[in-house]
Amino acid sequence: MKVPFFRSPWQEPEAADRAMAVWSQVLRSGCYIQGPAVSRFEGALALRLGARQVVGLNSGTDALVLALRLLDLDPGDEVVLPSYTFFACFEAVVRAGAVPVLCDCAPDDFLAGAEEVAERLTPRTRAVLAVPLFGDASALPGVSQLCRDRGLPLVEDAAQALGARAWTPDRGWVAAAAWGDLSTLSFYPTKTLGASGDAGALSSPHARLVERAQALRNHGLNSAVHIDVGYNSRMDALQAELLLMGLDQLDRWLTRRQEIARRYLSGLSGLPGITLPHDREGHAWNYFVLRCERRDGLRESLAAAGVETKIYYERPIHAQPAWLARYGERTLPHASALASRALALPIFPGMQDEEVARVVAAVRRAVAVQQKEEGDEP
Ligand SMILES: *Cc1c(COP(=O)(O)O)cnc(C)c1O
Repeated sequence: MKVPFFRSPWQEPEAADRAMAVWSQVLRSGCYIQGPAVSRFEGALALRLGARQVVGLNSGTDALVLALRLLDLDPGDEVVLPSYTFFACFEAVVRAGAVPVLCDCAPDDFLAGAEEVAERLTPRTRAVLAVPLFGDASALPGVSQLCRDRGLPLVEDAAQALGARAWTPDRGWVAAAAWGDLSTLSFYPTKTLGASGDAGALSSPHARLVERAQALRNHGLNSAVHIDVGYNSRMDALQAELLLMGLDQLDRWLTRRQEIARRYLSGLSGLPGITLPHDREGHAWNYFVLRCERRDGLRESLAAAGVETKIYYERPIHAQPAWLARYGERTLPHASALASRALALPIFPGMQDEEVARVVAAVRRAVAVQQKEEGDEP
């Protein structure tokens, strides 16, 4: 029996049948792009996030592009972002015509915290892009406070963090995607709320920015005139209907992700050469990423045992050719170390207990073999 890295909840026959029934209604309606289904989804998601409006979009990538565009950056303006994140963050800053300034992650963490961001602030800094990576929102309170202290807008890329939350003494628990002046979400199939294709959203408490985003996603159109040069970043009704169904089940899915993470954390604790992710309250566990000194060997052993894994991220942004060609070399030691050690184990709501147990057993066996090999070395 193989354990896949991911199975979409929509692959389950019952869920697929329910989706087909709803989709049949959409097909008969003839209303395929934006329209009432997208509006209902925007309303439902806004309710969940609290005190914010939501703009449904075609992808998390375009959500970032729109968010950066809404900041009205000038050439030479700097945006601080982590190097250890998905490439789309970098693309959005470049496409907004600004200068991306990369920061490292905190030692012993995947996240860039307030300290790492603060080191990169200059008089030309115009915004900070924070990423609650893998579903861990715990660095957001610090980065958010830093931005408030410095009067900088915060863009939050919550693509991996819908369902996560973080706590501050003055605000209590605040949901991920509700921290930024502009927050972005992705509903790519593997995220905590996944569609069956591309989809994304932007959320903001600022009504003026929301109104501009609504125009930008549809060629700058507002009340039948083009007020701006925009994009085609619209969400379609089939995905919106699926996401509405998913939103109803999101809490159940998140609970199951947390159960699986707990099993990994207890089943894999104390293994030599393995560093487990921090078990922080409010973690959404979109990905379960451990660190291993001999990562590539572990990955091969797991593949041989039928356990599919993934590497987030083989190269941080500062090691990508597209970065190097434009901005040259940077030294970001924590991000570089992670790139050679991080390994993501399967975690998804439909994962069976036996599958989790197989992964735990396979990792334990692989580590034992590695230990023995090390012992055998002269
Ligand atoms: C998935 C992801 C994106 C991009 O979202 P798409 O919907 O695939 O365009 C952006 N940032 C992060 C951190 C992501 O994980």
